[in-house]
Amino acid sequence: MSTTNPSIPADTAAHVLSHFGRGGYPAGDWTESLITLIDRADMTNRAKLVTAFPEVGAAVLLAKYDEEGIATLQRIAGLQVAPLTCSSSNCWNAVGPFDPKTGRCEDCIEAAA
Ligand SMILES: [Zn+2]
Repeated sequence: MSTTNPSIPADTAAHVLSHFGRGGYPAGDWTESLITLIDRADMTNRAKLVTAFPEVGAAVLLAKYDEEGIATLQRIAGLQVAPLTCSSSNCWNAVGPFDPKTGRCEDCIEAAA
């Protein structure tokens, strides 16, 4: 699957990121319900929904199935892309959460405070 999808609007990317708890901002009630529906659908129904709502569908599929999907959506939404690992030299925390400005994980930020 392609990791770039210029057909996804920034708003849609932000809505889907919010649905998956990865930043962005929540959609209105109807769109959030649609995102949830596509997220939870079986393959047959998901294909129907993605056909009917290609932009939201593409964004949900990116978030769920593409390794780079969340980062791609964050770029589309104009958000700072979270680093893959903590930027502190002796810390290999790959889980986060990370501070987008320093690239350090929460533990390192707390330890430095
Ligand atoms: Zn760290």
